[in-house]
Amino acid sequence: MRIHSLTTRFLLTLLLSTALPFLAFGWYARAEMEERLEQQVVQVFLPQLAQQAADEIKAQLERIEQAVGMLRNALMKVLREGGDSLDVALEVDLTRNFDPDLVLLADGAGRVVGQRLHPRLDRETPASREQLLPQDVADKPWFEALNRGRVAGAWWGKRHLSEFLHRTPNKESYDPEDYSFALAFSVPTRTTQRGVVFALFSWIEVQQVLDQTAQFLRQDAGFASAEVFLCNAQGHYLAHTERANYVRGRLPLELAVQLPIGGDPVEHPYRTAAGEDRRAGFASVDKPPFEWWIGVHARDDELLRTSRDLSNVLLFVTAITAVILVVWSMVASRAILRPVRRLAVATESIARGDLSTRVPARGRHELADLGRAFNRMAGDLDSRTEQLRQAERQAAWAEMARQVAHEIKNPLTPMRMSAQLLARAKREGDPREPELTERLIRTVLEQTDAMARIASDFRHFAGPPARTLEVLDADDILTDAQRHFAGMAEIGNARVEFAPGAAGAQVRVDREELRRVLLNLLHNAIEACRAGDGPRDRVTMVRVTSAPTDAAVVYRVEDDGPGVSGEVQPKLFDPYFTTKSSGTGLGLAICRRILEAHGGHIALETSGPGRTVFRFELPRV
Ligand code: ADP
Repeated sequence: MRIHSLTTRFLLTLLLSTALPFLAFGWYARAEMEERLEQQVVQVFLPQLAQQAADEIKAQLERIEQAVGMLRNALMKVLREGGDSLDVALEVDLTRNFDPDLVLLADGAGRVVGQRLHPRLDRETPASREQLLPQDVADKPWFEALNRGRVAGAWWGKRHLSEFLHRTPNKESYDPEDYSFALAFSVPTRTTQRGVVFALFSWIEVQQVLDQTAQFLRQDAGFASAEVFLCNAQGHYLAHTERANYVRGRLPLELAVQLPIGGDPVEHPYRTAAGEDRRAGFASVDKPPFEWWIGVHARDDELLRTSRDLSNVLLFVTAITAVILVVWSMVASRAILRPVRRLAVATESIARGDLSTRVPARGRHELADLGRAFNRMAGDLDSRTEQLRQAERQAAWAEMARQVAHEIKNPLTPMRMSAQLLARAKREGDPREPELTERLIRTVLEQTDAMARIASDFRHFAGPPARTLEVLDADDILTDAQRHFAGMAEIGNARVEFAPGAAGAQVRVDREELRRVLLNLLHNAIEACRAGDGPRDRVTMVRVTSAPTDAAVVYRVEDDGPGVSGEVQPKLFDPYFTTKSSGTGLGLAICRRILEAHGGHIALETSGPGRTVFRFELPRV
């Protein structure tokens, strides 16, 4: 129990001191990392990406502006100075990427004096396209604005389906190529009136920026759900990576954010009508006169996948490390506690008396040292105990021999004296010879009885004979003792009454041994009465009874002798304790040993002048 609690304590200490703080750290680091990554991805990455796309579109518009500016300069030179022909000026090499779909040059009166069509335009046959191209643009808003000087620099036209390129414009077109946007500059002429150069660009120039951004997001960043769009400040779609949105018009409500003009990029989490969590980043295209915004959005789970993957890895690593720590500490604690447990078991075994117990003690560590010390101690204890046992055995035998010699001397003295008396009477012709002969015979009989008893006591005490148990009627023990006792010389003038009262109860006993118990008690009772102060010929009353209880049979041996004095009582059952000159002190010790071997016990129940009761009990069958 103690060892187990040691293991538990060890584990708890380890958990509290290492695993828990480690887990807490892991947990904190995970939460912190997740939050930071989310911030990075969501609050920084998406708006930044939108900003990049917005900057790209701005640069695109500026390049377009530059290209048309170059064209304007070439035309201005021709119109002012004569020089090359208009056609040559119109063919001026614009940066290849920004070739306009259509360039128109109008003079101060609005007459179209030059035109340039991109060769890739094959939507209409050349002949019919010629018909689409205007001869006069005086009524066009861009011409009016620039010709009359209402717009200082450049005039920008928004996304539209141009009447110059399409005979019947399809207002529901999904194809960015169908859409155009325009840029016009005024061109000073020799007269006071200003001409206008007007260029139409394909909306593809804008769409490409969006598509590239989306491609980067989908392929390089791994956000397959990413979409990129261009809208105006009023929340109308102008371009979208999903072409379907070309005819959609307004941004869905959940995506419509208040967009500050020319403000910082904005981050916006939202849930779609289909219940999908997404996040968007907005950035404004800082190119007047446009109030355009780029929007980039993707699904939340995709955006946060990396951070969640990372945090899961961290959590996994933390948990695995904690498990390894705990397992390792369990193994370590077992390794430490196993020898300790062995020592505890060995100690208990030694305490139970098995001095041959040893523990394995290999190795150089402290526990092995402890084991060796334990084994040394057990060895010493073993040999010392053996020495002690031998010494005790010798002492016990010496004591026994001394006692036997002493006991045997006592009955010999009266026999020798009687014999000497008889011999003298015979020699002297003493007339008391027959009487003395009678006395000698009686003395010899009495003393040989006593010697027989002494011999029997010692033999029984030294080692009881093999026990044969049989089930007897409880009262049989009394009748058996009565029968044996009847023929014994020591009865003298004692009156021994047997009163069996346990009819029907049975006990499992060795008949011989129980007889010995009763005879010992009877013998003691009679002797005690004789040793009392009363006259020698007083009639001694001894009573032997039996009575059943629920679980046992109680036997009592009562006498009317002088009783057992107070200081003698605690020692009554000690071996060799006697108050008699001819006693061995073994009688009661033998009684107790026999009764305990039968599962019973014996005690002095009452003792006082005139009444002494020894009581013993045997369990019922
Ligand atoms: P022993 O009879 O050889 O002395 P026991 O062990 O039988 O040895 O008895 C020990 C002592 O107990 C006796 O010497 C005696 O003093 C005391 N004793 C035993 N029975 C009685 C009794 N019935 N009345 C008084 N004293 C007793």
